[in-house]
Amino acid sequence: MARPQLSDYRIATLGSHSALQILKGAKDEGFSTIVICKKGQEKPYRMFNVADEIISIGSFKDFPRIEQALIKKNAIIVPHASFVTYMGFQEVEKFKVNYYGNKRILRWESDRNAERNWLKAAGLSLPRIYRKPSEIDRPVIVKFHGAGGGKGYFLARDEEDFKKKIKPYNLRNYVIQEYIIGVPLYVHYFHSSLTGELEIMGFDKRYESNVDGIGRISARDQMVLNNVDPSYVIVGNTPIVIRESFLPRLIEMGENIVKRSKKIAPPGLFGPFCLETVLTPDEDIKVFEISARIVAGTNPYTHGSPYTWLRYNEPMSTGRRIAREIRTAIEQDRLKEVLA
Ligand code: AMP
Repeated sequence: MARPQLSDYRIATLGSHSALQILKGAKDEGFSTIVICKKGQEKPYRMFNVADEIISIGSFKDFPRIEQALIKKNAIIVPHASFVTYMGFQEVEKFKVNYYGNKRILRWESDRNAERNWLKAAGLSLPRIYRKPSEIDRPVIVKFHGAGGGKGYFLARDEEDFKKKIKPYNLRNYVIQEYIIGVPLYVHYFHSSLTGELEIMGFDKRYESNVDGIGRISARDQMVLNNVDPSYVIVGNTPIVIRESFLPRLIEMGENIVKRSKKIAPPGLFGPFCLETVLTPDEDIKVFEISARIVAGTNPYTHGSPYTWLRYNEPMSTGRRIAREIRTAIEQDRLKEVLA
């Protein structure tokens, strides 16, 4: 049988989140590309010329209806957050179409308790979780499960404050987490299952509304305006270059996450992932979440980050790195190792 060729495959993804970067990266590596768009949202993919084919569907939930067509085209899906957000991880687990990554990791990422156990077992430092409001002994952030991107989260200083603020949210499923005062830092990693190596791809911080605007209103005016509660609705991402002496710890954290993932969901986590952290003035790195796939924080680096420049000496976005991995797997006849 003839060895598989690059031209036998097409890279496909949903038109949102980090699709521009994924598709551009795939084209740079020589793949032909497909984007699946919600009707009416095709314009960016046309404007930036990253898709060889655009398939429009009424809603991302309709994805299973076009799955057979994608299988016929020998498409390889590169997942991003929109897959799980719009379809749920159980639906994604059922995909028959080629899928880059380890689907078994999705349930660990989708369940806050499972995720926490994984991070803890990897030896990472996590914010404390309060089981009961009466335990609150320091500032906390209250997060709702499946909350629309940080909308409605609130801060509370004690039990009384919590009880007052939770009232409008009756019956909603929430978690009370220690609020870490420091700076948020999102660490972008890539683990190659072909070489066994871990790479730092870059860092970002998020630009969130309204929390990043509150600082523009003086404390005096905030008091006058009454009820200026923070919300964390993501608007965009800003690049960060980290103090170099933090790098050894951050690399080790990524390595420990990968090592642990091999035990909980063999063959383990590979491809892009991100640790969402807050760095304190004591230089403690608290991890409040993991994303086990590409994050939108890599989007500022379509042309590569300072870190990928060091390693590759050519423009290397995370999207392109994924395509490079798939290309290498095809060339070495090891595609099965990178598809779930
Ligand atoms: P999340 O939905 O968990 O990604 O959180 C949304 C935003 O809330 C993050 O981008 C952070 O700015 C902030 N945040 C989340 N958890 C914490 C925490 N434990 N301490 C401080 N800030 C947090």
